[in-house]
Amino acid sequence: MAELFYETDAELATIQGRRVAVLGYGSQGHAHALCLRDSGVDVRVGLPAESASRAKAEEEGLRVVTPAEAAAEADLIMVLVPDPVQGRVYAESVREHLEPGDALFFGHGFSVRFGYVEPPADVDVCLVAPKGPGHLVRRQFTAGKGVPCIAAVEQDATGKAFDLALSYAKAIGGTRAGVIRTTFAEETETDLFGEQAVLCGGTSALVKAGFETLVEAGYQPEIAYFEVLNELKLIVDLMYEGGLEKMRWSISETAEWGDYVTGPRLVTDETKAEMRKVLAEIKDGSFAATWMAEYESGKKRYEQFRAADADGLLATTGTRLRKLMSWVDPA
Ligand code: NAD
Ligand code: MG
Ligand code: MG
Ligand code: MG
Ligand code: MG
Ligand code: MG
Repeated sequence: MAELFYETDAELATIQGRRVAVLGYGSQGHAHALCLRDSGVDVRVGLPAESASRAKAEEEGLRVVTPAEAAAEADLIMVLVPDPVQGRVYAESVREHLEPGDALFFGHGFSVRFGYVEPPADVDVCLVAPKGPGHLVRRQFTAGKGVPCIAAVEQDATGKAFDLALSYAKAIGGTRAGVIRTTFAEETETDLFGEQAVLCGGTSALVKAGFETLVEAGYQPEIAYFEVLNELKLIVDLMYEGGLEKMRWSISETAEWGDYVTGPRLVTDETKAEMRKVLAEIKDGSFAATWMAEYESGKKRYEQFRAADADGLLATTGTRLRKLMSWVDPA
């Protein structure tokens, strides 16, 4: 069973005694910076001089400096820039400003797990990752609630790194909901596997294959779109609220019977064998290396994949149909 931590397990005073730099002001960065500020923490945001996010942070009353200035001022640096640029930001703006006893924090373990950031031995290295997008983190926090977080320590130079991570989690509302202890390796490997095998890769491929099967058999694309993509939200909402049990309670008996007898014909032992290969490529770093090479060379294949799907019948059908649903696509 996972180890859980709540409000009384964490001291807000610990993080209130630090000078915190939040690098990046995107989905996670804005939520962390604002919640830390509202929790009485000395926080500055680090963004490049030309960054469009600067104005947004300043409008909220946050002090914005460059990433290097933020790292120099701070003794706790939270890295919330996109994962593929973290290695560069660390080398250019953070490394030289780390002093013994400082702390380097992340919202995802990618850069540390795969060696793109190699912190010196005398700093704490921690992970605090809310299990939800930044806007939900901020909304829950301002409502007096919180989004559950996971927290990990990769390197405990001070002997108090986990207490510091819990204190940080408390300042962004995490301990109001609960914080689960993990490791950088577990967080990184399960996050990548989940998004590739199930959430993004698996689901997109399933939707596309189902849509193509219906359209190739002569059914109208609009009808196929509703059945295999649009209705997915209703099913996922039910799973989110009450697991597979609530979804199966809500659907028809016919749908539930089809679930049992047809699902395993599609996701077979062969599919699971492939999932194990996907996981192995995540663990041995080859997925990360391929993605970093793609990113560094200008994301050409990435853009080709995106363009191919954007021109497809599934996309064009969806653009048309969403206009019929005013609550989805307001005119
Ligand atoms: P994002 O793309 O929303 O925002 C990135 C921010 O970094 C932007 O403000 C951008 O202007 C800034 N930035 C880009 N290059 C920069 C540079 N060179 N120097 C300084 N700032 C730069 O990113 P995000 O989704 O908030 O992700 C940040 C981290 O949080 C990642 O490690 C990600 O894996 C993790 N995370 C994200 C979510 C999520 O819901 N989006 C959830 C959990 C963890
Ligand atoms: Mg410093
Ligand atoms: Mg994830
Ligand atoms: Mg991810
Ligand atoms: Mg139906
Ligand atoms: Mg039922």
